[in-house]
Amino acid sequence: MEKIAPSKGFKLKLAGMPDTSVIRLSRPATVGVSALDIPHIRPKLLVKEKQAVKTGTPLFHDKRDPDIRYVSPGTGTVKQIRFGPRRRLVEVVIALDGMDDFVEFDPVSPADLNSLSDPDLTDRLKQGGMWQTLRQLPSRDTADSRSTPPLIIVCLNGNDLFSPHPGRVLEDKIKPFEFGLAILQRFSDRVIVAARKSSMDRLEPVRHRITHQVADIYPAWDPGAILYHIKTKAEENQAWYIHVEGLIRMARFLETGRYPVETMVTVTKGHDKKPHMITRLGAPVRLLAGNFSPESVITTGQLNGRKVDPDTHLGFFETTLNILPDAPDDEMFGFLRPGLNKPTVSKTFLSCLVNKEVQLDGTLHGEERACINCGYCETICPVDLMPSFIMKALHGDDIEEALQLGLLDCCRCGLCSFTCPSKIELTQILSLGMDTHHKDKQG
Ligand code: SF4
Ligand code: SF4
Repeated sequence: MEKIAPSKGFKLKLAGMPDTSVIRLSRPATVGVSALDIPHIRPKLLVKEKQAVKTGTPLFHDKRDPDIRYVSPGTGTVKQIRFGPRRRLVEVVIALDGMDDFVEFDPVSPADLNSLSDPDLTDRLKQGGMWQTLRQLPSRDTADSRSTPPLIIVCLNGNDLFSPHPGRVLEDKIKPFEFGLAILQRFSDRVIVAARKSSMDRLEPVRHRITHQVADIYPAWDPGAILYHIKTKAEENQAWYIHVEGLIRMARFLETGRYPVETMVTVTKGHDKKPHMITRLGAPVRLLAGNFSPESVITTGQLNGRKVDPDTHLGFFETTLNILPDAPDDEMFGFLRPGLNKPTVSKTFLSCLVNKEVQLDGTLHGEERACINCGYCETICPVDLMPSFIMKALHGDDIEEALQLGLLDCCRCGLCSFTCPSKIELTQILSLGMDTHHKDKQG
């Protein structure tokens, strides 16, 4: 097992680590398939409001490849199709019936896997709503089924500091996990399995499958950060990756011929210790979040997630909700307070001197100012970028310069924005640059 121990990243202790006990939530009244956390998709709706759907009925597909379907995680009626600005699809909401009625596919046992041709396997995963769990670096778009990946990274830990513990996700699922790895080996002969050091205690049953152990420094377990530390040639930048939840769902789908509807999620809320929760894919945010103050902001990552409307449903890839206090931006004389409880990387607050858990909040603690060339963003970047230089290249429309400075290595971890004393949204600027470049390449 190789060890990856990057010297840069986020090392502060944050409050909110979930309890590793597990509870099962009751069946929700509705489920939703959100289109908001699916990068680069161009969705085309396939259903109308009031239409009856089965578990596994396609709700929308990706216009770029109509075979890639997003399917219903429950049986019932399309209750609402929600659009955002410029008629951007937000989510399709299904009111659930009492029992599941599945769209049935022919099951494939692990012993039968080799009898499926590569195109048949790909096609089956696309039709079943599973293909998109495979994603491709550096754009993090859906994996391109016409390409052969140089390697596939299986991420046992999610994008957030407090994503579900893989030991819990894998409990009683060792066989689907092994089957999932066999499926990936059909696409690449180099499959890497990476886990956080602090997760290893509960991963004994799959320890022999773990090829890389990464340090507990955020975001060392991100697929982009892993790739940055192990790649030896440029072609490897096109690696695919999959999170463990997606891998298990993919294996279960093939083995049963039915769309698997369960997921495990964590909710973090200040110093509360909340258990891991088993629920339906696309469960309502309010059901998961429980009671929270109206001043809260809900995100799907402490440092890099999206902000979630509490009246929507969990996104396709999302497994964590963080409920953060939304302290007012105009916090009176906030800059004069000692900040013993405020997280800081740039040592602005006294919390840098005490070894206690601190909590993030939703405020900027000030307004955006001009870059002062302090270099903090560079000293924290886990993939050794100079975010301020890349930002300046992008502002000057010099994409070539930005690419030369390593733009595509950015793993969108959010640390440069978090640490910048001038409150510059560097991650957003770099992400936009990467997305525009990806779109231009696609034509
Ligand atoms: S540039 Fe910023 S968002 Fe990108 S990897 Fe570095 S710190 Fe993270
Ligand atoms: S941390 Fe902010 S102010 Fe400092 S160099 Fe980076 S962008 Fe400029």
